[in-house]
Amino acid sequence: MAINAYLDNAATTPIDKEVLDAMLPYMETHFGNPSSIHAFGWETRAAIERSRRSIAQYFNVSPGEIFFTSGGTEANNMALRCSVESLGIKTVISSRIEHHAVIHTLEMLENKGLVKVLWVRLNKKGVIDLQHLEQLLEKNKGSLVSLMHANNEIGNLLPIKKVGDLCAEYHAVFHSDTVQTMGHYVLDFQKVKALMASCSAHKFHGPKSTGFLYLSGNLRINPLIYGGPQERNMRGGTENVYGIVGMAKAFEIAYRNIKKDQAYIRDLKSYLIDLLNAAIPGIKYNGESAEKSLYTVLNISLPSVKNKEMLLFNLDIAGIAVSGGSACSSGVSQDSHVLSAIGCDMKKPSIRVSLSKLNTRTEIEYFVEQLKIFQLV
Ligand code: PLP
Repeated sequence: MAINAYLDNAATTPIDKEVLDAMLPYMETHFGNPSSIHAFGWETRAAIERSRRSIAQYFNVSPGEIFFTSGGTEANNMALRCSVESLGIKTVISSRIEHHAVIHTLEMLENKGLVKVLWVRLNKKGVIDLQHLEQLLEKNKGSLVSLMHANNEIGNLLPIKKVGDLCAEYHAVFHSDTVQTMGHYVLDFQKVKALMASCSAHKFHGPKSTGFLYLSGNLRINPLIYGGPQERNMRGGTENVYGIVGMAKAFEIAYRNIKKDQAYIRDLKSYLIDLLNAAIPGIKYNGESAEKSLYTVLNISLPSVKNKEMLLFNLDIAGIAVSGGSACSSGVSQDSHVLSAIGCDMKKPSIRVSLSKLNTRTEIEYFVEQLKIFQLV
Protein backbone atom coordinates (compact mmCIF):
# COMPACT_ATOMS: atom_id res chain seq x y z
CA MET A 1 0.00 0.00 0.00
CA ALA A 2 1.29 3.45 -0.85
CA ILE A 3 2.32 5.52 2.13
CA ASN A 4 1.31 9.10 1.53
CA ALA A 5 2.34 10.52 4.87
CA TYR A 6 4.44 8.71 7.47
CA LEU A 7 3.77 10.74 10.61
CA ASP A 8 4.65 8.19 13.28
CA ASN A 9 8.32 9.01 13.83
CA ALA A 10 8.14 8.74 17.62
CA ALA A 11 7.33 5.06 17.07
CA THR A 12 10.24 4.61 14.69
CA THR A 13 12.03 6.43 11.89
CA PRO A 14 13.16 5.18 8.51
CA ILE A 15 16.84 4.30 8.43
CA ASP A 16 19.08 6.84 6.74
CA LYS A 17 20.74 5.60 3.53
CA GLU A 18 24.14 6.76 4.84
CA VAL A 19 23.54 4.70 7.98
CA LEU A 20 22.67 1.63 5.95
CA ASP A 21 25.79 2.09 3.81
CA ALA A 22 27.93 2.26 6.94
CA MET A 23 26.35 -0.94 8.26
CA LEU A 24 26.47 -3.12 5.14
CA PRO A 25 30.19 -3.99 5.20
CA TYR A 26 29.67 -5.39 8.72
CA MET A 27 27.04 -7.75 7.35
CA GLU A 28 28.90 -8.75 4.20
CA THR A 29 32.67 -8.78 4.58
CA HIS A 30 33.55 -7.63 8.12
CA PHE A 31 31.71 -10.41 9.90
CA GLY A 32 34.23 -11.49 12.53
CA ASN A 33 33.19 -12.08 16.12
CA PRO A 34 34.59 -9.08 18.02
CA SER A 35 35.77 -11.42 20.79
CA SER A 36 37.88 -13.53 18.37
CA ILE A 37 41.62 -13.07 18.59
CA HIS A 38 42.37 -12.93 14.87
CA ALA A 39 42.21 -10.25 12.21
CA PHE A 40 38.48 -10.74 11.53
CA GLY A 41 37.71 -10.19 15.21
CA TRP A 42 40.11 -7.27 15.62
CA GLU A 43 38.43 -5.50 12.73
CA THR A 44 34.96 -5.64 14.27
CA ARG A 45 36.28 -4.95 17.79
CA ALA A 46 37.92 -1.80 16.43
CA ALA A 47 34.65 -0.74 14.77
CA ILE A 48 32.76 -1.14 18.07
CA GLU A 49 35.33 0.85 20.02
CA ARG A 50 35.45 3.58 17.35
CA SER A 51 31.67 3.85 17.56
CA ARG A 52 31.77 3.99 21.35
CA ARG A 53 34.33 6.83 21.30
CA SER A 54 32.38 8.73 18.70
CA ILE A 55 29.07 8.39 20.61
CA ALA A 56 30.65 9.31 23.97
CA GLN A 57 31.93 12.65 22.71
CA TYR A 58 28.42 13.85 21.79
CA PHE A 59 27.42 13.54 25.44
CA ASN A 60 30.72 14.67 26.95
CA VAL A 61 31.22 11.36 28.74
CA SER A 62 34.02 8.85 28.68
CA PRO A 63 33.72 5.90 26.24
CA GLY A 64 33.89 3.54 29.23
CA GLU A 65 30.55 4.97 30.41
CA ILE A 66 28.65 3.76 27.31
CA PHE A 67 27.21 0.22 27.50
CA PHE A 68 25.60 -1.05 24.30
CA THR A 69 22.21 -2.73 24.64
CA SER A 70 19.43 -4.02 22.41
CA GLY A 71 17.66 -0.64 22.67
CA GLY A 72 15.76 1.61 25.02
CA THR A 73 13.74 -1.09 26.77
CA GLU A 74 16.82 -3.04 27.77
CA ALA A 75 18.68 0.12 28.81
CA ASN A 76 15.75 1.10 31.06
CA ASN A 77 15.56 -2.40 32.53
CA MET A 78 19.30 -2.44 33.17
CA ALA A 79 19.28 0.99 34.82
CA LEU A 80 16.37 0.25 37.15
CA ARG A 81 16.76 -3.43 37.98
CA CYS A 82 20.52 -3.40 38.36
CA SER A 83 20.75 -0.21 40.40
CA VAL A 84 18.03 -1.44 42.78
CA GLU A 85 19.82 -4.77 43.15
CA SER A 86 23.37 -3.45 43.39
CA LEU A 87 22.93 -0.22 45.33
CA GLY A 88 20.37 -1.50 47.83
CA ILE A 89 17.83 1.10 46.79
CA LYS A 90 14.52 0.86 48.65
CA THR A 91 12.59 3.83 47.23
CA VAL A 92 12.05 4.85 43.63
CA ILE A 93 10.49 8.13 42.53
CA SER A 94 8.96 8.16 39.07
CA SER A 95 5.89 9.38 37.17
CA ARG A 96 2.72 7.82 35.78
CA ILE A 97 3.55 9.03 32.27
CA GLU A 98 6.82 7.13 31.87
CA HIS A 99 7.15 4.59 29.07
CA HIS A 100 6.00 1.08 29.98
CA ALA A 101 9.63 -0.03 29.86
CA VAL A 102 10.01 2.00 33.08
CA ILE A 103 6.54 1.65 34.65
CA HIS A 104 6.23 -2.10 34.19
CA THR A 105 9.77 -2.67 35.43
CA LEU A 106 9.08 -0.60 38.55
CA GLU A 107 5.77 -2.40 39.14
CA MET A 108 7.59 -5.72 38.92
CA LEU A 109 10.22 -4.56 41.45
CA GLU A 110 7.49 -3.33 43.77
CA ASN A 111 5.45 -6.52 43.43
CA LYS A 112 8.51 -8.50 44.42
CA GLY A 113 8.75 -6.37 47.56
CA LEU A 114 12.13 -4.92 46.56
CA VAL A 115 11.14 -1.25 46.42
CA LYS A 116 8.38 1.20 47.21
CA VAL A 117 7.51 3.38 44.21
CA LEU A 118 6.43 6.97 44.84
CA TRP A 119 4.69 8.70 41.95
CA VAL A 120 5.41 12.39 41.57
CA ARG A 121 2.40 14.66 41.08
CA LEU A 122 1.60 15.95 37.59
CA ASN A 123 -0.57 18.87 36.60
CA LYS A 124 -3.36 18.61 33.99
CA LYS A 125 -0.84 19.11 31.21
CA GLY A 126 1.34 16.31 32.55
CA VAL A 127 4.01 18.67 33.87
CA ILE A 128 6.01 17.32 36.82
CA ASP A 129 5.38 19.17 40.10
CA LEU A 130 8.95 20.06 41.07
CA GLN A 131 7.95 21.10 44.58
CA HIS A 132 6.41 17.70 45.17
CA LEU A 133 9.51 16.05 43.71
CA GLU A 134 11.66 17.99 46.15
CA GLN A 135 9.44 16.99 49.08
CA LEU A 136 9.72 13.34 48.08
CA LEU A 137 13.48 13.63 47.69
CA GLU A 138 13.84 15.31 51.06
CA LYS A 139 11.85 12.61 52.85
CA ASN A 140 13.55 9.77 50.97
CA LYS A 141 17.22 10.60 50.70
CA GLY A 142 19.29 8.22 48.60
CA SER A 143 16.39 7.06 46.43
CA LEU A 144 16.40 6.24 42.72
CA VAL A 145 14.63 8.76 40.47
CA SER A 146 13.51 7.75 36.98
CA LEU A 147 11.97 10.55 34.93
CA MET A 148 11.94 10.71 31.16
CA HIS A 149 13.47 13.65 29.32
CA ALA A 150 10.67 13.80 26.76
CA ASN A 151 7.37 11.99 26.79
CA ASN A 152 6.83 9.89 23.67
CA GLU A 153 3.05 10.44 23.55
CA ILE A 154 2.49 14.08 24.48
CA GLY A 155 6.00 15.45 23.99
CA ASN A 156 6.38 17.05 27.43
CA LEU A 157 9.98 17.99 28.21
CA LEU A 158 11.46 17.58 31.67
CA PRO A 159 13.64 20.40 33.01
CA ILE A 160 16.36 17.76 33.12
CA LYS A 161 19.14 20.04 34.38
CA LYS A 162 17.00 21.25 37.31
CA VAL A 163 15.91 17.70 38.18
CA GLY A 164 19.53 16.48 38.01
CA ASP A 165 20.61 19.27 40.38
CA LEU A 166 17.79 18.47 42.81
CA CYS A 167 18.67 14.77 42.75
CA ALA A 168 22.33 15.57 43.41
CA GLU A 169 21.34 17.80 46.34
CA TYR A 170 19.37 14.97 47.98
CA HIS A 171 21.86 12.21 47.05
CA ALA A 172 19.40 10.50 44.73
CA VAL A 173 20.50 8.36 41.78
CA PHE A 174 18.94 10.01 38.73
CA HIS A 175 18.08 7.92 35.66
CA SER A 176 16.46 9.52 32.64
CA ASP A 177 14.83 7.77 29.70
CA THR A 178 16.28 9.98 26.96
CA VAL A 179 15.05 7.77 24.12
CA GLN A 180 13.05 10.56 22.48
CA THR A 181 15.72 13.26 22.88
CA MET A 182 19.11 11.69 22.11
CA GLY A 183 19.87 12.57 18.50
CA HIS A 184 17.31 15.41 18.69
CA TYR A 185 18.79 17.65 21.41
CA VAL A 186 22.31 18.34 22.62
CA LEU A 187 22.88 16.73 26.02
CA ASP A 188 26.00 17.24 28.11
CA PHE A 189 26.23 14.90 31.08
CA GLN A 190 28.88 17.04 32.73
CA LYS A 191 26.20 19.71 33.06
CA VAL A 192 23.08 17.54 33.37
CA LYS A 193 23.54 15.45 36.49
CA ALA A 194 21.90 12.24 35.30
CA LEU A 195 23.90 9.20 36.39
CA MET A 196 22.14 6.91 33.91
CA ALA A 197 20.42 7.64 30.57
CA SER A 198 18.84 5.35 27.99
CA CYS A 199 19.13 5.54 24.21
CA SER A 200 17.49 3.86 21.24
CA ALA A 201 18.94 4.29 17.73
CA HIS A 202 15.76 3.75 15.71
CA LYS A 203 14.25 7.02 16.97
CA PHE A 204 16.74 9.09 14.96
CA HIS A 205 17.11 7.21 11.65
CA GLY A 206 19.37 4.50 13.05
CA PRO A 207 18.80 0.74 13.17
CA LYS A 208 16.28 -1.03 15.39
CA SER A 209 17.27 -3.15 18.39
CA THR A 210 20.33 -1.02 19.09
CA GLY A 211 20.89 1.42 21.91
CA PHE A 212 22.94 2.00 25.01
CA LEU A 213 22.85 2.87 28.65
CA TYR A 214 25.02 5.76 29.74
CA LEU A 215 26.23 4.74 33.18
CA SER A 216 28.31 7.25 35.10
CA GLY A 217 31.71 5.95 36.15
CA ASN A 218 30.71 6.88 39.71
CA LEU A 219 28.09 4.13 39.80
CA ARG A 220 28.95 0.46 40.16
CA ILE A 221 26.13 -1.90 39.26
CA ASN A 222 25.85 -5.57 38.28
CA PRO A 223 24.93 -6.63 34.73
CA LEU A 224 21.39 -7.39 33.60
CA ILE A 225 22.50 -10.06 31.13
CA TYR A 226 25.11 -12.63 32.14
CA GLY A 227 26.96 -15.04 29.90
CA GLY A 228 30.07 -13.42 28.49
CA PRO A 229 32.77 -10.83 29.06
CA GLN A 230 31.39 -8.40 26.46
CA GLU A 231 30.90 -4.73 27.38
CA ARG A 232 33.55 -5.07 30.08
CA ASN A 233 31.57 -7.87 31.74
CA MET A 234 28.47 -5.68 31.90
CA ARG A 235 26.40 -7.25 29.11
CA GLY A 236 26.95 -10.80 27.97
CA GLY A 237 26.29 -11.72 24.34
CA THR A 238 27.99 -11.18 20.99
CA GLU A 239 27.71 -7.50 20.12
CA ASN A 240 25.33 -6.21 17.47
CA VAL A 241 28.29 -4.89 15.46
CA TYR A 242 26.40 -3.46 12.46
CA GLY A 243 23.76 -1.96 14.73
CA ILE A 244 26.40 -0.21 16.83
CA VAL A 245 28.21 1.09 13.72
CA GLY A 246 24.86 2.27 12.32
CA MET A 247 23.94 4.04 15.56
CA ALA A 248 27.26 5.93 15.59
CA LYS A 249 26.63 7.02 11.99
CA ALA A 250 23.04 8.05 12.80
CA PHE A 251 24.36 10.25 15.64
CA GLU A 252 26.98 11.75 13.34
CA ILE A 253 24.29 12.75 10.83
CA ALA A 254 21.86 13.93 13.52
CA TYR A 255 24.37 16.17 15.30
CA ARG A 256 25.93 17.41 12.07
CA ASN A 257 22.60 18.93 11.02
CA ILE A 258 20.87 19.40 14.34
CA LYS A 259 20.14 23.15 14.18
CA LYS A 260 18.84 22.97 10.62
CA ASP A 261 16.70 19.88 11.27
CA GLN A 262 15.29 21.31 14.51
CA ALA A 263 14.28 24.55 12.78
CA TYR A 264 12.74 22.67 9.85
CA ILE A 265 10.69 20.31 12.04
CA ARG A 266 9.60 23.11 14.41
CA ASP A 267 8.32 25.02 11.40
CA LEU A 268 6.39 21.94 10.17
CA LYS A 269 4.84 21.52 13.61
CA SER A 270 3.60 25.09 13.76
CA TYR A 271 2.31 24.81 10.18
CA LEU A 272 0.41 21.67 11.25
CA ILE A 273 -1.12 23.50 14.24
CA ASP A 274 -2.19 26.45 12.05
CA LEU A 275 -3.86 24.12 9.54
CA LEU A 276 -5.57 22.07 12.26
CA ASN A 277 -6.90 25.18 14.02
CA ALA A 278 -8.37 26.41 10.75
CA ALA A 279 -9.81 23.03 9.68
CA ILE A 280 -11.23 21.62 12.90
CA PRO A 281 -12.95 24.05 15.30
CA GLY A 282 -12.78 22.85 18.91
CA ILE A 283 -9.62 20.80 18.40
CA LYS A 284 -7.53 20.44 21.59
CA TYR A 285 -3.88 19.71 22.19
CA ASN A 286 -2.77 17.36 24.95
CA GLY A 287 0.26 18.02 27.11
CA GLU A 288 2.50 21.03 27.45
CA SER A 289 2.11 23.88 24.95
CA ALA A 290 3.58 23.22 21.53
CA GLU A 291 6.49 25.65 21.89
CA LYS A 292 7.57 24.16 25.21
CA SER A 293 7.40 20.52 24.16
CA LEU A 294 9.36 18.10 22.02
CA TYR A 295 9.46 19.63 18.55
CA THR A 296 8.73 16.30 16.85
CA VAL A 297 5.48 15.43 18.68
CA LEU A 298 1.94 16.82 18.66
CA ASN A 299 -0.91 15.09 20.47
CA ILE A 300 -4.43 16.19 19.53
CA SER A 301 -7.94 15.45 20.76
CA LEU A 302 -10.75 15.82 18.27
CA PRO A 303 -13.99 17.48 19.39
CA SER A 304 -16.33 14.76 18.21
CA VAL A 305 -16.02 11.98 15.77
CA LYS A 306 -18.90 9.82 14.63
CA ASN A 307 -16.86 6.65 14.55
CA LYS A 308 -13.84 6.78 16.82
CA GLU A 309 -12.80 3.20 16.07
CA MET A 310 -12.80 3.80 12.32
CA LEU A 311 -10.73 6.99 12.37
CA LEU A 312 -7.23 5.50 12.43
CA PHE A 313 -8.34 2.75 10.10
CA ASN A 314 -9.60 5.28 7.56
CA LEU A 315 -6.41 7.31 7.86
CA ASP A 316 -4.41 4.13 7.34
CA ILE A 317 -6.39 3.31 4.21
CA ALA A 318 -5.60 6.83 2.99
CA GLY A 319 -1.89 6.01 3.43
CA ILE A 320 -1.41 8.07 6.58
CA ALA A 321 0.55 6.59 9.47
CA VAL A 322 -0.12 8.22 12.85
CA SER A 323 -0.75 6.68 16.23
CA GLY A 324 -3.88 6.70 18.32
CA GLY A 325 -4.54 7.44 21.94
CA SER A 326 -4.67 3.75 22.52
CA ALA A 327 -1.69 1.49 22.33
CA CYS A 328 -2.18 -1.77 20.53
CA SER A 329 -0.10 -4.50 22.06
CA SER A 330 -0.64 -8.17 21.18
CA GLY A 331 -3.71 -7.15 19.23
CA VAL A 332 -5.39 -5.74 22.33
CA SER A 333 -6.28 -2.07 22.20
CA GLN A 334 -5.88 -0.25 25.50
CA ASP A 335 -6.40 3.38 26.41
CA SER A 336 -3.17 5.31 26.66
CA HIS A 337 -1.86 5.29 30.24
CA VAL A 338 -0.32 8.72 29.58
CA LEU A 339 -3.57 10.38 28.49
CA SER A 340 -5.44 8.68 31.37
CA ALA A 341 -2.80 9.89 33.85
CA ILE A 342 -3.34 13.50 32.83
CA GLY A 343 -7.12 13.19 32.96
CA CYS A 344 -7.86 13.39 29.24
CA ASP A 345 -11.41 12.73 28.12
CA MET A 346 -10.88 9.22 26.76
CA LYS A 347 -14.20 9.25 24.92
CA LYS A 348 -12.76 11.78 22.53
CA PRO A 349 -10.42 10.35 19.94
CA SER A 350 -6.82 11.44 20.22
CA ILE A 351 -4.04 11.16 17.71
CA ARG A 352 -0.30 11.52 18.05
CA VAL A 353 1.43 13.04 15.06
CA SER A 354 5.20 12.73 15.17
CA LEU A 355 7.45 14.36 12.63
CA SER A 356 10.90 13.92 11.16
CA LYS A 357 13.17 15.87 8.84
CA LEU A 358 11.83 13.75 5.96
CA ASN A 359 8.27 15.07 6.26
CA THR A 360 7.02 17.82 3.99
CA ARG A 361 4.37 20.55 4.04
CA THR A 362 2.50 18.63 1.34
CA GLU A 363 2.19 15.62 3.66
CA ILE A 364 0.94 17.85 6.47
CA GLU A 365 -1.66 19.41 4.16
CA TYR A 366 -2.80 15.96 3.00
CA PHE A 367 -3.10 14.71 6.59
CA VAL A 368 -5.21 17.67 7.73
CA GLU A 369 -7.43 17.43 4.65
CA GLN A 370 -8.08 13.73 5.27
CA LEU A 371 -8.57 14.18 9.01
CA LYS A 372 -11.15 16.85 8.36
CA ILE A 373 -13.11 14.43 6.18
CA PHE A 374 -12.80 11.34 8.38
CA GLN A 375 -13.72 13.04 11.64
CA LEU A 376 -17.14 13.64 10.10
CA VAL A 377 -17.85 10.12 8.89
N1 PLP B 1 11.34 4.84 26.05
C1 PLP B 1 10.66 5.68 25.25
C2 PLP B 1 10.35 7.06 25.74
C3 PLP B 1 10.24 5.27 23.98
O1 PLP B 1 9.56 6.10 23.21
C4 PLP B 1 10.55 3.95 23.57
C5 PLP B 1 10.07 3.44 22.27
O2 PLP B 1 8.94 3.58 21.92
C6 PLP B 1 11.28 3.12 24.43
C7 PLP B 1 11.66 3.60 25.66
C8 PLP B 1 11.65 1.73 24.03
O3 PLP B 1 12.75 1.74 23.14
P1 PLP B 1 13.07 0.46 22.22
O4 PLP B 1 12.04 0.43 21.15
O5 PLP B 1 14.44 0.73 21.68
O6 PLP B 1 13.06 -0.72 23.11
